[in-house]
Amino acid sequence: MTFGELSEWTIALGAKEKLSAEVRQRVSRELPSFVRDIDPKTAPKRFKLPTGESLADATRMTAIKCHSLLIARKVHGAAFFKVAPEYEALAKDLLFWVMRYNFNTGEPKGVFCCPPCTLSLLPLYSLGCFRWVDCNELKSAVLNAMVRGQSVFSSDYPKAYAQWAKGFAEACSEASVPAGSGRGNRSR
Ligand SMILES: [Zn+2]
Repeated sequence: MTFGELSEWTIALGAKEKLSAEVRQRVSRELPSFVRDIDPKTAPKRFKLPTGESLADATRMTAIKCHSLLIARKVHGAAFFKVAPEYEALAKDLLFWVMRYNFNTGEPKGVFCCPPCTLSLLPLYSLGCFRWVDCNELKSAVLNAMVRGQSVFSSDYPKAYAQWAKGFAEACSEASVPAGSGRGNRSR
């Protein structure tokens, strides 16, 4: 798989969409080694977001890492980290930098580096990708900062990308309606 395909698949992957069977098979086969080889020296200088903006420098690396993990989570479900050791390692690496940022700056937990980096992480919080922490707390802190225009969101930020990232938070809170209240209730 290529960086172009990573972008393409993430574009296809709005909050409520699923990837095709063909793409899911490719992900199973090729994403672990793609993740293992992620390196700023070999990654494209600019990386295109699902909403069309493109990122450079360290911020593009956050997006590449987050989107890889998002695809692993969407293809393999909540136990994605058992599928390949690369996913577990990547999740730990991302979370380490997020926590370190919080420790060094005192910004809300879950906020990281700049608006696009924080927005790249938001779907992962929404989908509970970091099992070592309370992802809901991180998700709420980021959404709060965004609504109030605080922290990294106090200046201009990519609104379309914010909308895309928020879609995952909204889809997840709908999906967590308790069983028996109508949605997804398979019992008779
Ligand atoms: Zn950044």
